[in-house]
Amino acid sequence: MIDTHTHVTSCRDEPAVVIARARTAGVDRFVTIGSSATEMAAAAAVADAFDGVYMTAGLHPHEAADWSDALAAEIRRRSAHPRCVAIGETGLDWFRDRAPRAAQVTAFRGQLALARELALPVVIHCREAEDDCLAILAEEAPPTVVMHCFAATSRLADVVARGWYCSFAGNVTYPSATALQDAARQVPDDLLLLETDAPYLSPVPHRGRPNEPAYVMETLRMVAALRSTTPETLGELVDANATRAFCLG
Ligand SMILES: [Zn+2]
Repeated sequence: MIDTHTHVTSCRDEPAVVIARARTAGVDRFVTIGSSATEMAAAAAVADAFDGVYMTAGLHPHEAADWSDALAAEIRRRSAHPRCVAIGETGLDWFRDRAPRAAQVTAFRGQLALARELALPVVIHCREAEDDCLAILAEEAPPTVVMHCFAATSRLADVVARGWYCSFAGNVTYPSATALQDAARQVPDDLLLLETDAPYLSPVPHRGRPNEPAYVMETLRMVAALRSTTPETLGELVDANATRAFCLG
């Protein structure tokens, strides 16, 4: 099983400990996110040190005020790492609004251009910004799109029609998340991904405590039940989808 979106370098315990626990739980591949200059450096170090760890290079929308030519050059440099498999996470967050919206749009468009230039998938963070986010994505047309921590339930049909991947995080296990659970039932087999977004969004029964990649197995069990299949079958499907989406060797 793979955790397609994790921040291994921000988990409570050291990467070695977190990765060992995940392997014991049956998780053998990880895409760890590098979405600031500091996090890219940390992600590269972990990808160098551990088998099965891939990384991304990008700038989080919360950090969008840091966007500059120098930062774009740093993303390009980090993207040359042999285990760098995507640009991001990038996107728009109209919920927290931690960076000015104009800066978020500029950083987002800049990274979509990089994804096109480098022929890499792009990992999207979209919160309370579905209309703007989807319009920009449609316009910039990066080669492969992964909607991380999928939440655009009202736009599921558009996302699927464009062939964008929908990656479900631990919040799909929350009892109140019925719209998200409906979406997790409806996503076509070939566009479904699962992730932890650790250390955030711990799935039930770990909710309220720090998340870690091992817990993607809880999300796998939940989504398998929603789709009336077994965790084994769904795990193989997600592995195959992730291998294709991120061109994993
Ligand atoms: Zn993330």
